[in-house]
Formats: sequence, structure tokens, C-alpha cells
Amino acid sequence: MCTLSQIPFSNLKLGSVTLKNLSSLGYETMTPSQAQSLPHILKGKDVIAQGKTGSGKTAAFGLGILEKLNVKRFRVQTLVLCPTRELADQVAKEIRRLARATHNIKVLTLCGGTPFGPQIGSLEHGAHIIVGTPGRVEEHLRKGSLKLADLCTFVLDEADRMLDMGFQASLDAIIEYLPEQRQTMLFSATYPGQIQDIARRIMIDPLVIKSAATHDNDSIEQIFFKISDKSDATAPRLTALCLLLLEYRPDSALVFCNTRRETQEVADQLCAKGFSALALHGELEQRDRDQTLVRFTNKSASILVATDVAARGLDIEALDAVINYQLARETEVHVHRIGRTGRAGSKGLACTLYSDKENYKLGKLAEYLQQDIVTASLPALGLLKTPPYKPPMLTLQIDGGKKQKVRPGDILGALTGEGGIAGSEVGKISVLDNWAYVAVKREVSQSALTKLGQGQLKGRSFRVRSIGD
Ligand code: AMP
Repeated sequence: MCTLSQIPFSNLKLGSVTLKNLSSLGYETMTPSQAQSLPHILKGKDVIAQGKTGSGKTAAFGLGILEKLNVKRFRVQTLVLCPTRELADQVAKEIRRLARATHNIKVLTLCGGTPFGPQIGSLEHGAHIIVGTPGRVEEHLRKGSLKLADLCTFVLDEADRMLDMGFQASLDAIIEYLPEQRQTMLFSATYPGQIQDIARRIMIDPLVIKSAATHDNDSIEQIFFKISDKSDATAPRLTALCLLLLEYRPDSALVFCNTRRETQEVADQLCAKGFSALALHGELEQRDRDQTLVRFTNKSASILVATDVAARGLDIEALDAVINYQLARETEVHVHRIGRTGRAGSKGLACTLYSDKENYKLGKLAEYLQQDIVTASLPALGLLKTPPYKPPMLTLQIDGGKKQKVRPGDILGALTGEGGIAGSEVGKISVLDNWAYVAVKREVSQSALTKLGQGQLKGRSFRVRSIGD
């Protein structure tokens, strides 16, 4: 269910037929994000909204699309791109509901994982609005079965998820086919650098609407834990780290160490205790580094242990926690480390372990941050008896990549086609030169493995195996 504002739809410049239809759908007042965005959308402005599902974003862009539509002109006037078929179906359904008071508006979905031929037939019959997934839409454009010369509205829905699924190249290709004169709307739960780049390239003076949570400056909870330095205490830091992991159970935690050797040792010891941890340091071969980052960012490994140098330039969004195994040598480095959590409107957690010897560094930090350092007690040792938790996803590796012309859409299609798993159960897809990785929900990993292993990509079978478990 969505939260509603007090502002009625009748405040907007909408026709009486549309207002009546909205009311018959039970839409009387706008959601806060609709109230913020619709006045601008209806004026034809480019809009970036950090809308999540449930914010009423579909109706926001849906109304914008429909108000502009010239029903008599039977050409494609709108293209909505979504990351998965399920989302495309939902969006198409919502647009049809919003459009039901106007006759003859034709909405067509074009998604991967469904036969291509019938889609050509449907396109020949014509449509006003296309809702589709990037891979398939691109294919229709390349083959000339979809023409966008009359397009006036372009919508990217869940743009961050589209990039996660590896659709950047398809998006770039599709953008080439769009007329320059158009309205572009971009919806995304998070706003990483890659999305900002796209926005800069394809939008004109966009209005940015953020959800309330992203305005929160206090989005990082910093807690300090004092560790005994006494030599009789057995591995106090490692024990403390395990306790914190078991207490907070972060799906993605970045653990900072000050040396390369310690990074590997900590990761090895966590693995020996049954945690899903990986080490990232300068000595890794490129292939291992790629695989480590893929597994951590697609949430099939929960813990990444890294040095500052190795973590430099990592573009990881939405970390649940940063844990400083050692206090950083410099204050600025500490602030930089903890800034990696608490992004994208979610509250982040930064835990720091320190010992008596580091008290002076802590004093400097308090001065720099101009705030008191809050220390807390570690969870009780009894927690160590709980079994370590598993990450939500599992990575499947496909022994075929860009060089074999494997594309993200092929993988998504093969997984979610007839008898496959749902699009919502597929996570990040990363296609590298000679192999590709796809994350799937752990519960369905066996069926995903079977489906991919038996199926074909680009008319060929590729070896597929799960990695990391
Ligand atoms: P969305 O964020 O687009 O996935 O929409 C979430 C749900 O809220 C959908 O079921 C919509 O039908 C519903 N919805 C959207 N806008 C309104 C509104 N102004 N009043 C009541 N329900 C709405």
C-alpha cells in the first residue's frame, strides 16, 4: 500500500474523464511523490525520481504519457523500459487501467524470454505505447520491426536495476534510435554514478525528486567497540568481528584492515568459521578480482575484507555495514571508509574496533567529527554459538561471455522462459569477455542451474556452474 498526501488529483490539469476514471480506481489524493512530480511531468519536463515500488511512480509517469498521447495518430509515441518481464507486465497493466476511459489506446509489451515472431505480428498491427525489456526492444529496433520516429516520451523504470542486470549496452544502443525532441523520465531506487552519467547524457535540465529518506544527513550510525590488547585474550578482534556480524547479519559488509596480510588472514578465518567472506587486495589476479567484486556486489558473498588501497574506486552502492577491523591511520580515511554505508536513503552502520593503544587516534577523530565518540559493549559471547548466516543470492558462472556474443538479455530470457524462475528471483548479471555471471536467489539456485545448463544461449550450450558454495 502507498502513503497518500492530502492533495487531490483535481488540483492538476487533467481532463474530467481522466479524473473520473482515477476516482473509479480509488485514486482520490496523490501520493507524495506524485504530488511532487506530476505538475512537472504534465508540463513535459524531464524528471528524475528516486521512486521505489509503492510510491505510485507508475501512475505518475502513466498519467504523463496518457495526457500527451494523440490516440488518432496510430504510431509508437511512448517507450517504457523495465528490467524484467514481470515489471513490464505490471506497468502495462497499470497504464491500461489508467487509460481505460479513453477508447482504443493500444499498449504492447515486448519482453525477452517470449517468442520473437508473434511480437513482430503485433507490431505490424500498431501500438501507441511500448513497454519492454532493453534486450528485446533493442533487437526489434535493429531488425527494423520497431520504429520510434514518432516517439515523444521515453521512460526508464527501475533504471538502477536495469544497469545491475547488465543492460547498459542495450540502453546505449536504444538511445541512438530516439528522436531528440522528447520528454525523458527516469525512475530509480538508488542514484549511483552510472545513472548520473546516463541522466547527463540523455536528459535536458531534469528536475530531480528525491524521496524523503535521502534527505537524511544522519544516515550513518557509528558505533565504537573497545577491544582488549592483553596477550592472554585469544584473537579478541576476530571474536569481536564475528559477534558483530552475527548480531547485525549484514547482507553486504565491507571490513577494512590496514595491511594486505591481515586482509587475507581475516577473510580466511571468517570462511573457516562458515561465513561467506572474500578478500580484496592488490595481489589478486585480474580474474579473481573481477570474480570477487561480482560475488560481493551481487550479494552472493556477504563480507568483503579489503585494504583502503584495494577498495579505492570501488563503486559499491548500498552497503549495509562498514566495519573497521583496525582504526584507519588517518582521520580522513576513516571518514571516507564509513561514507560508503548509509547511501541511497537507507540507514547505514559503521562499527569500529579499537584498543587502548589507539585512544589518541580516537581523540583526534572526535575533534575532526566534532562529535562525541559513542562506545558500546560487544554482544554477549553466547552469540558465537549461532550458525553463521548465508547470503541471499548464489552466483552461477557461464563459460561464455562477450566474445561468444552472450548478452544479458539472453541469460535473463533463458532463466525466466517457459518453466523457469521468476524475473524477481534474478539478481545482477555481469557479462565479461569470456564468461558471464548471474546471481539468483539461493532458494531457486538448483532450478536456475538446471534451466541454464539444459537451455541454449545464442543457439549454443555453455557450461554453467555455481561458484562460491
Ligand atoms: P507503484 O509505486 O507504481 O508500484 O504503485 C503502487 C500501488 O499504489 C499500485 O497498486 C497503484 O495502483 C497504487 N496507487 C498509485 N497511486 C495511487 C493513488 N494516488 N491512490 C491510491 N493508490 C495508488
